[in-house]
Amino acid sequence: MRYLMVDAGRVVVITGGSKGIGRAVAMRFAQEKARIILVHYDPDETASEKTMDALAKQGIEVESHKVDVSSFEAVDVLFKDILSRFGRVDVVVNNAGITKDTLVMRMSEEEWDMVLKVNLKSVFNCTHAVLRPMVKKRGGSIVNISSVVGLVGNAGQANYAASKAGILGFTKSVAREVAARQVRVNAVAPGFIQTEMTDVLPEQAKESFLQQIPLRRIGSPEDVAEAVYWLCSDAASYITGQTIHVNGGMFM
Ligand code: NAP
Repeated sequence: MRYLMVDAGRVVVITGGSKGIGRAVAMRFAQEKARIILVHYDPDETASEKTMDALAKQGIEVESHKVDVSSFEAVDVLFKDILSRFGRVDVVVNNAGITKDTLVMRMSEEEWDMVLKVNLKSVFNCTHAVLRPMVKKRGGSIVNISSVVGLVGNAGQANYAASKAGILGFTKSVAREVAARQVRVNAVAPGFIQTEMTDVLPEQAKESFLQQIPLRRIGSPEDVAEAVYWLCSDAASYITGQTIHVNGGMFM
């Protein structure tokens, strides 16, 4: 698929870009020869190196940073560095996320705080760090990765669902704050996508998810990446504050 009028050489920051959906998003942006900045946090760099290699093979200018996106200070330092070197950031995909699943009755304060910090506060951190320069440049696109679970809930994922629902309210509010400056802020809410995050689920749980998907297949990271890419293209220049649901019809 091709989209019209996408600036080559855009500076694109993808949090959680080392694997899964983030890696697929990076590979999609590689098709326009964007400059790609991956952010990940695992001290084991194998996944990020694999993604970097795949991008470098395509001649893409790519770099990877091990930064905890839940840290306001660390994110601020990262974006200041990127902005000082490239002069701008055109796209931010807030994709980093974790799960700490358990029933609320058994959930520790730490499990609650950690998921909210990594999944939701990180979106604030990265948006805060990049918004002023985007507003100044009168352009930019932010896509926040939510989840179908943020819309319908899921037993055992109250922390995760709260973080993903929070992303939607945040997205719409920021979209309203910066729309007049031509900065667009949208969300993508994936359904059940095959990545390391879902690979760990028991077979029975996967089968039960499958039964809830009208299109009768698990989504691929590329399914999500395509929606993210489209939202950041000029083809979506009149779209802000929206959520694109990529879920095989799981939630309509
Ligand atoms: P994944 O394969 O587990 O990848 C998660 C990514 O987030 C990794 O790159 C990881 O990097 C990074 N990350 C985690 N904690 C971080 C931190 N503190 N600082 C910086 N980076 C951090 O997950 P995925 O399935 O691709 O999910 C990507 C996003 O889509 C998440 O927000 C998830 O909630 C959402 N989502 C996924 C599904 C699904 O079915 N898979 C469905 C709906 C929504 P390191 O490993 O290096 O830490």
